[in-house]
Amino acid sequence: MASSYDEMWEKLNLDLGAHGGLLEVLGKFYGDIYLSQAGRLRGMEYLDFVLSEVHGLRIRELQEARAAGRKVIGTFCVFVPEEIVLAADAVQVGLCAGAEAGKDAAEKILPRNTCALIKSFVGFKLSRLCPYIESCDLVVGETTCDGKKKAYEIFSDYAPVYVMEVPQMKQACDRDLWRAEVLRLKGRIEEVTGRTVTPDKLREAIRVVNERRKVLQRLNRLRAASPVPISGRDVLLVNQVSFYDDPVRFTASISNLCDELEERVRSGEGIVPKDVPRLMLSGCPMAVPNWKLPYIIESSGAVIVGEESCIGTRSTRDLVAEDGETLDEMIDAIVNRYMRIDCACFTPNRERLDNIVAMAEDLKVKGVVHYGLTFCQPYAMEAFKVEKALKKVGVPMLSIETDYSMEDVEQLKTRVEAFVEMIR
Ligand code: SF4
Ligand code: SF4
Repeated sequence: MASSYDEMWEKLNLDLGAHGGLLEVLGKFYGDIYLSQAGRLRGMEYLDFVLSEVHGLRIRELQEARAAGRKVIGTFCVFVPEEIVLAADAVQVGLCAGAEAGKDAAEKILPRNTCALIKSFVGFKLSRLCPYIESCDLVVGETTCDGKKKAYEIFSDYAPVYVMEVPQMKQACDRDLWRAEVLRLKGRIEEVTGRTVTPDKLREAIRVVNERRKVLQRLNRLRAASPVPISGRDVLLVNQVSFYDDPVRFTASISNLCDELEERVRSGEGIVPKDVPRLMLSGCPMAVPNWKLPYIIESSGAVIVGEESCIGTRSTRDLVAEDGETLDEMIDAIVNRYMRIDCACFTPNRERLDNIVAMAEDLKVKGVVHYGLTFCQPYAMEAFKVEKALKKVGVPMLSIETDYSMEDVEQLKTRVEAFVEMIR
């Protein structure tokens, strides 16, 4: 069926047939996983709307921004400081990489034993399926894991790519390297946008991004209540949408959702009864539309109350200090905040273990499901240490490795159900 957006998608050089098929599958998947939930909050209608227009209205907004002279910057990692991009009056979008479509094309130019996230972003580009990638004036990559860092070399044959070097340790010399990289990014963004990052603009950008983090922190505090007032699936969706929606509009909408949640918590109303086992997810990011594991968990008699992940608390836990007055002081504040990210790409990475244990205790979870994408070495390696750290505080962990395919759904369901039964 022709869509009112066909002309725009055609201009973006999408493969209309394949793209239409993708939207159809996505819509069905969304209906089954999200719209079928009972007792959803009114505030989630905003998220439903955003999702239904994910390749429509938001893309149109991006085209309008570009027509007005603004640039669109795509990213794959929470290490890219959005504050710099916003301060140059550009729009930053997270390039979702959570679907299997395009995998066959990706495997023609990447080794098969590459994680699904990398195959997804390369596959989407090769198969002309993603209007976000096609709208980007620049894609900013980073040297986090080896897979990504080498994939960007290949990806740069197909899209304008710029790569930031992310240190692997957290010593003084690593901080110096990262500071130099933030400044190098600032220079490149200024060059691409033709705008200068001034102290006033950077101060405002820091405030805007912090406000979004703060509203997500508020959401996380509210969902910690017992009975839990919102499903883990819905909170994951909120986190996913935070990567491509307009930050000011998103913050206002989630603030309304939090008001509604507050009422729910006050009246002791839960999305599930109090005795449903509370679980936490930890590990690799789950990009749109990767909802497989949360759906399996929440249809196996448990509820998710926290995500220790980049599409979760890792990107919202720390704020950038707002007391910097000069450009240099603000850059320092940005550098300090991003150096606190506890990605498994760092060594050693003790902070992550401490953060997971603290989160599990604060949220009073009965267990943790560690999620690793198949072929992701950093998170697979850390899973052993996470399990050990959790064991010390008496929290059991289930380690899952999977990708975006649906082939293992039944097998995963059996393992998750057995885990939920064990902790009940
Ligand atoms: S897990 Fe690491 S590499 Fe992946 S988005 Fe997060 S910080 Fe970046
Ligand atoms: S999931 Fe793992 S292997 Fe894949 S991009 Fe992230 S850190 Fe790299």
